[in-house]
Amino acid sequence: MADSYDVVVIGGGPAGYPAAIRAAQNRLSVACIDAWKNRDGSTALGGTCLNAGCIPSKVLLESTELLHRAQHEFAAHGIRASGISVDLAAMQKRRATIVKGMTQGIAGLFKAAGVTALAGHGKLLAAGRVAYTSHDGAQREISAKHVILASGSVPVELKAMPFDGRQIIDSWGALELDAVPQRLGVIGAGVIGLELGSVWRRLGSEVVVLEALPDFLPMADGAVSKEALRHFKKLGLDIRLGTKVTAAKAAKGAVDVAYTDAQGAAQSVKVDTLVVAVGRRPNSRELLADGTGVKLDERGFVVVDEACRTGVPNVWAVGDLVRGPMLAHKGKEEGVMVADLIAGHFAEVNYKTIPSVIYTAPEIAWVGETEEQVKASGRPYKVGTFPFMASGRARAMEAGAGFAKIVSAADDDEILGVHVIGPMAGELIAEAVLAMEYSASTEDLQRTIHAHPTLSEALHEAALAADKRAIDIPNKA
Ligand code: FAD
Ligand code: AMP
Repeated sequence: MADSYDVVVIGGGPAGYPAAIRAAQNRLSVACIDAWKNRDGSTALGGTCLNAGCIPSKVLLESTELLHRAQHEFAAHGIRASGISVDLAAMQKRRATIVKGMTQGIAGLFKAAGVTALAGHGKLLAAGRVAYTSHDGAQREISAKHVILASGSVPVELKAMPFDGRQIIDSWGALELDAVPQRLGVIGAGVIGLELGSVWRRLGSEVVVLEALPDFLPMADGAVSKEALRHFKKLGLDIRLGTKVTAAKAAKGAVDVAYTDAQGAAQSVKVDTLVVAVGRRPNSRELLADGTGVKLDERGFVVVDEACRTGVPNVWAVGDLVRGPMLAHKGKEEGVMVADLIAGHFAEVNYKTIPSVIYTAPEIAWVGETEEQVKASGRPYKVGTFPFMASGRARAMEAGAGFAKIVSAADDDEILGVHVIGPMAGELIAEAVLAMEYSASTEDLQRTIHAHPTLSEALHEAALAADKRAIDIPNKA
């Protein structure tokens, strides 16, 4: 095996593996070092996203949404179903099988593209030199013309409640529970906390979500957060805003969680399992030898410019390790961009059109600015909203909750933000991303033919509503 490559990628998650594949497509010799180890000791490519994040969470969200629909929606369709019960072991086996298949798929892609996969730990020694330690402890040095750092992120652990892997767990642990906890506590009402809370609530847990901030989903459009909170409460999530968790103690099968409530009073709640989902931190420890010149900010993120250059020639960093939203698709585009830049091609990432999706029911997705952000900018704007209640397709799906909303500039008709809460929001948002990527105007969306009856008509009608020209809902005066 050659110990010298054009490109060495450290990290095989959704930022690192696409970088490696694109670099190989660009006819560069590539090695990708990845340290992931599963609980059973097996190694796997795909990082957090495939092994412990996006994919397993979506598998369980899908399974449990089906359960919820069978229990609560079938009757509305005139379907009588009785004796519905859950085989959690089978549900979890399906999750594990899908994850395994997807991660093996990356190994297959590497093989096909000619990327050398190295299982183990990578450390940047200096530009052009990487130390590789395999899982059996063998060490060697690899030289590389370019190094792409893609070591991702890890869950934040709170000092007052360290993970014990059984009762106080991180999001990975919460995806692999083999029994439904009677009482589940979730600290943090972020995307991960809400998705995991929804999964276990649908499986029967009493779920309490403790969130320090007074506002719910502050990064989403205000109207969307308000609608979302209503639905999460309807599902039975006990969301307590403005509550700062100060300590948690696991003893005798229960966890005592202490917090201060919105009024500042000391409170406590007893749960069987506590999921700490208070965010993730960049995985930059043990990644850089002394004196590499690569800079970290005060939170541990590798400092990069718009093109993911670290400032040290030929050393790049992508994904959760660097600034910007911690999202798989953001990392993927950065990885691909860097691999193309290395090969001398043109490449860039449009950070203004990165979509966000929360895969709950109803699903939530947005791109661009919220109405509140546009308002604060002082730019004159118009808003068009279309409720899924007026969509024939949504009604057929028994999914009339929620709406699509477009925020556009009043002066030149530019689409500034699109926000969807409702069925398939994550799929619907792709049209808005494409429209914004191509600088489409609201009128362009209005003049685009959308098939009937489809959910996508909601975006079309919202665009029309922005100019009070909607057909399928009354326009506001
Ligand atoms: P990672 O996926 O963390 O991969 C980094 C890899 O590098 C890992 O395999 C790690 O073991 C390896 N590594 C670290 N250090 C070294 C080293 N020194 N040497 C060698 N290898 C190393 N994002 C979405 O876009 N959509 C979602 O639906 C979504 N759902 C999520 C659900 C959960 C529960 C969680 C936890 C996250 C979710 N995310 C989602 C976020 C998403 O997983 C991350 O944004 C994404 O995985 C980041 O990709 P990455 O390649 O930068 O890092
Ligand atoms: P995210 O970063 O989107 O995954 O969300 C994590 C959430 O956890 C944020 O909304 C934080 O406000 C919240 N959070 C962080 N620390 C605490 C704490 N000690 N108690 C309650 N909520 C917290």
